[in-house]
Amino acid sequence: MLVQLTCGLRRLVMSWLVLVLVLALAVALVGLGAPAATAAAAFPTAAGVVGRLVTLQGVYTEIHGAPARPGSTVDTDTPLFELSTGGRHYRLKFAHEPHVRSRATITVTGVLVGHTIDVTAPGSGVAQVAAPAPAPSSSATSTGAAAGAAVRTGTKSLLTINLTWPGAALTATAPAEQNFLFGADRRSLASYYREVSYGQLSWTGTVTANLTGTDPGSCDLTALSDQAEAAATAHGYTPAAYDALIINVPSLHCPSAGYGEIGGKHTWIQDGLWNLADGYAREVATHEIGHSLGLYHSHGLECGAVTVSLNCLTNAGTNSQEYGNAYDLMGNNWPGDAHDAVTWFSAQQELTLGWLSGSQVRTVTTTGSYPLAPLEQAGATTPQVLVLHSATHSYYVEYRQAIGQDAFLSGYPAATNSIHISVNNPGSTDTGPYALDFTPDSNLGPGYQDWYDAPLTDGRSFTDPENTFTLAPVAGGSVAVTFHTTGPSS
Ligand SMILES: [Zn+2]
Repeated sequence: MLVQLTCGLRRLVMSWLVLVLVLALAVALVGLGAPAATAAAAFPTAAGVVGRLVTLQGVYTEIHGAPARPGSTVDTDTPLFELSTGGRHYRLKFAHEPHVRSRATITVTGVLVGHTIDVTAPGSGVAQVAAPAPAPSSSATSTGAAAGAAVRTGTKSLLTINLTWPGAALTATAPAEQNFLFGADRRSLASYYREVSYGQLSWTGTVTANLTGTDPGSCDLTALSDQAEAAATAHGYTPAAYDALIINVPSLHCPSAGYGEIGGKHTWIQDGLWNLADGYAREVATHEIGHSLGLYHSHGLECGAVTVSLNCLTNAGTNSQEYGNAYDLMGNNWPGDAHDAVTWFSAQQELTLGWLSGSQVRTVTTTGSYPLAPLEQAGATTPQVLVLHSATHSYYVEYRQAIGQDAFLSGYPAATNSIHISVNNPGSTDTGPYALDFTPDSNLGPGYQDWYDAPLTDGRSFTDPENTFTLAPVAGGSVAVTFHTTGPSS
């Protein structure tokens, strides 16, 4: 029987007896430390390879990639999944992504071949045992608990492990990597994070020598990180002592140029970390560290020729452009890439990170005019995000200017003569915001250019599809808000 959390409803109708039996089996097998075969020793996986049916309990982690370079066609995310238990790491192969948030504790039943657990085989399934621990520094916002328990303030340490193999080399040198990651240059990863955290997060760290390993030959991030950590340890480094790891290799053999664990410590980069003059190269490393801090992608709500409809909003998960937000590091960053820039996180991600809090956040519940300071402004005494709730969703309103890392916005007036509005997707395990596009279908090309002019320009207005409120930006960053008494529309 199938024990799989594809949705809450399914969990309710699932036989409790089967769940109890599977959990009892999990406890018995996890107690043995290593995966153990069940009485029926051999099972064919979906690919026909014979393996052992195992049940293991451990920490579930989602691994997501970076967007493509500008000029590419729009890419789809290719997430990878992992189970960590007892110091071992297993790849998980699903037919459909489970309804479980990254860093939850789960029980997995599937067919083990090598270090891959095939959860598509008959009798396979996933059950959540415990939700992810809340982040210690997360502020009291309505964005929902962020994935993982990553601390997002103070000084964090980062170990970069450089791994090469015969016939393949890395472009970066250790001094170039030190400068790329931790240098005083405003374009370094550390400088970026210091600014966008309003001075609350600093990165320090170490870069290893080039260590020699074995080409995995295929997209196998779990094997690559196991190999890199073992090599680093053998050469006197202590990966366990660092808050985050970047594994830099000549080739990942994966669709994306970089990957990061959501709420976990591992990130992977394909031959990067050396070119501060390349906005895309900068974006890949900072984006993956964003995943490590617990962030999902910043999407675009794609409703065709309209900005939003109730039906489109209700089904945001299926109307999502994965990397849609052009002005968010966890989105596509294409306008930034073109100007050697890495754009800020949008306000909703800043809330998730806990960097935007207190008087910087204003929840609006009554009609009036509300001033907004630019999101990028340090030490602002005026709110930098307005939060408005409808019956079912939360909207986040921000004002952006060409300041600091966002200086490149001077070339994108649509991003500065406007307000940016995103909406959440309650009920999804993906906490990433959905940007709204107020000039939908302005560019029907294959890239992300349609999202460059997504913000709501001064003089226009927006009424949410539940008819709760109307917003109208005023030049200079104020927002006129009118609440309606008609209540939610059907
Ligand atoms: Zn990503």
